[in-house]
Amino acid sequence: MSCLVRMRRVLRLLKINPVAGQRSMSQSSLAGKVAIVTGSTNGIGLAAAQALGKRGAHVVVSSRRQANVDKAVALLKSQSIAVTGTTCNVGKGEDREKLVQTALDQCGGIDILVCNAAVTPFFGSIMDSTEEVWDKILSVNVKSTFFMTKLVVPHMEKRGGGNVIFVSSVAAYHPFPGLGPYCVSKTALLGLTQNLAPELAHSNIRVNNVAPGIIKTSFSSVLWENEDVVNEFTKKLSIKRIGQPEDIGGVIAFLCSDEASYITGETITVSGGLPCRL
Ligand code: NAP
Repeated sequence: MSCLVRMRRVLRLLKINPVAGQRSMSQSSLAGKVAIVTGSTNGIGLAAAQALGKRGAHVVVSSRRQANVDKAVALLKSQSIAVTGTTCNVGKGEDREKLVQTALDQCGGIDILVCNAAVTPFFGSIMDSTEEVWDKILSVNVKSTFFMTKLVVPHMEKRGGGNVIFVSSVAAYHPFPGLGPYCVSKTALLGLTQNLAPELAHSNIRVNNVAPGIIKTSFSSVLWENEDVVNEFTKKLSIKRIGQPEDIGGVIAFLCSDEASYITGETITVSGGLPCRL
């Protein structure tokens, strides 16, 4: 190859690379977007708020307790993230409406919804679970996820589109002993994702689902505080560690970005390689 040809190739590379770099920067940016994240004062929700905020979104954080909201708002502000906070128990219709109204009043619209809050008030044989347990779990983990989505969709449509992310679990695929009703509620989110995605695609709204493995948060402390459970679980993983909230936050932010513009109706397992299929 002549020296001239080699030089031309180098010049071409120099010309292309900075452009390619700018393109990927702008595609991952969420500047100007408003993101509601439920259950976002701790754990995975807080990590999602941080990941979205670091990419430029104004995040609206919420959970049941005012003290937790205040703490999360202070933390995010200290990280130079634009943030608004309010209380919201996702199981209550009036709280869901207040959360959406707060985002509209203080941020002027909604582009992203992350339905992360969930409960698991029961541990034991699925055959011992009561109607009350089922009502609570399905109401908070599944029904509220749908009704939050229903509330925000008209506002996303006014902005020309948006992104909805659900937080499911690998428990959607694998029975976890003692957590039967919770596992079933997380499987239901796979169906909700698949049913909403084609309908909302007409409004340029993508709907995706993230299924975390065991992530080190207070929610899962009974699992990761037990060394035997951790050892047994990590044997099944390709990546031999339990996850951190940031492992999930980044994936949620990616799914909300233009880099994921051709992904909808999908469940992404983020579990260190645990084989998952229904
Ligand atoms: P976490 O660290 O315990 O945080 C839960 C957050 O949700 C807190 O901010 C809590 O604050 C809030 N919250 C609880 N109930 C709520 C409600 N009814 N309405 C609104 N906010 C509520 O839990 P996490 O581990 O991050 O779990 C988050 C999501 O990830 C859940 O959907 C869970 O099923 C899923 N997940 C977790 C794991 C794991 O291993 N950690 C694995 C798979 C899936 P307040 O107490 O102030 O309300």
